Amino acid sequence: MRYQRSSALFAEAQQVIPGGVNSPVRAFNAVGGTPVFVKYAKGAHLYDEDNNRLIDYISSWGPLILGHAHQEVVDRIVEQAQKGTSFGMPTAIETELAELAVSMVPNIDQIRFVNSGTEACMSAVRLARGYTGREKIIKFAGCYHGHSDAFLIQAGSGAVTFGSPNSPGVTQGTAKDTLLANYNDLENVKELVQANSGEIAAIILEPVAGNMGCILPEEGFLEGLRALCDQEGILLLFDEVMTGFRLAPGGAQELLGIRADILMFGKVIGGGLPVGAFAARKEIMAHLAPLGPVYQAGTLSGNPLAMSAGLAMLTHLKNNPDVFNSLDAKCEQLADGIGSILKEKGIVHQVNRLGSMVSVHFCEEKVRDFASAAKGNNEHFMRYFHGMLDRGVYLPPSAFESYFLNDALSQSDIEFTLDAVKDLYS
Ligand code: PMP
Repeated sequence: MRYQRSSALFAEAQQVIPGGVNSPVRAFNAVGGTPVFVKYAKGAHLYDEDNNRLIDYISSWGPLILGHAHQEVVDRIVEQAQKGTSFGMPTAIETELAELAVSMVPNIDQIRFVNSGTEACMSAVRLARGYTGREKIIKFAGCYHGHSDAFLIQAGSGAVTFGSPNSPGVTQGTAKDTLLANYNDLENVKELVQANSGEIAAIILEPVAGNMGCILPEEGFLEGLRALCDQEGILLLFDEVMTGFRLAPGGAQELLGIRADILMFGKVIGGGLPVGAFAARKEIMAHLAPLGPVYQAGTLSGNPLAMSAGLAMLTHLKNNPDVFNSLDAKCEQLADGIGSILKEKGIVHQVNRLGSMVSVHFCEEKVRDFASAAKGNNEHFMRYFHGMLDRGVYLPPSAFESYFLNDALSQSDIEFTLDAVKDLYS
């Protein structure tokens, strides 16, 4: 059996870990079947506990933009591990990574490192509230900003895959300060702002959404939000946990030419180790402890191993900006290839793509927000996912997730993938 050992390991894990996993989407609830247990990975390939080789299209959900176990990243982690793994005291490499990030991302002067994207978003909202003296935030249905209480209001990703858009445990008090808008619907946001005049601290969104599949902002949407925020004294928060250092060296802000007030990062910035960060102009960051009254802290924040991995990653990206063009070309080839095979076979579908993020939806209507993403045929998605998995291609195990390509993918990996799609529908 192809997944015999994974299946045994999953049974064992379920005894001691809720659902057998430490993050829900890994349990395959949306697609059924046995989650694949990874033994090791190199470049674009995962090797599972049953010794199957899989071409990896999730890249640890984004961080591994250069592929698994990239030598420069591994070398720096090993070198740092010999010198100690945590001090709870300042180190020079934190400043080095901060300087590098600030040099790459438009419109930020300072950055604070945390340990996850969740922490970055939760802290950014606290900062926005402290800065504006207002309490409410606007978020968009289908956008995911981590699992902190304020964001579990129609969140995307696993929170929607699992059919619990409003998680028990989130209080009414918290929920009432999170107002919900529809992605790509500027009028809807304007109405909310008007109805809550002078009370909105922040509008938070993924500038390119990756947690309801990949959804692009339509012409004028981000520009309209920027203008509205300027008019109303609201801070615009771009959650660039997925898009940061992936869509361009300076993330979505650079690619799309829109400036936000607070930026949140995760994934790529940590080179595959647990790092998140939030950043803004000095004037905003000055409100943060120890300079200002908005409290935020972390025992392992700025952890030297994590900083070393991030430094290796960002240094490589800064010195090799061609990586972004190469990823874009690979993803275009993949997306066009899948699209034309599905079209040829007469399969109703939508392919959404920007740079190295792409998603395939089995529905007729253009996918531009959560409601249209939810119209995808999940039965079909499950067959597609498992068909590809059985042919050696690991795709995101939910229709509400984006693929993340890595630059270790070779021409033959992409051809192998397209052959697998052809074979699946033959
Ligand atoms: N924001 C976005 C846009 C994300 O995609 C994610 C995670 N996928 C998060 C925040 C939360 O990050 P983490 O899982 O590191 O807490």
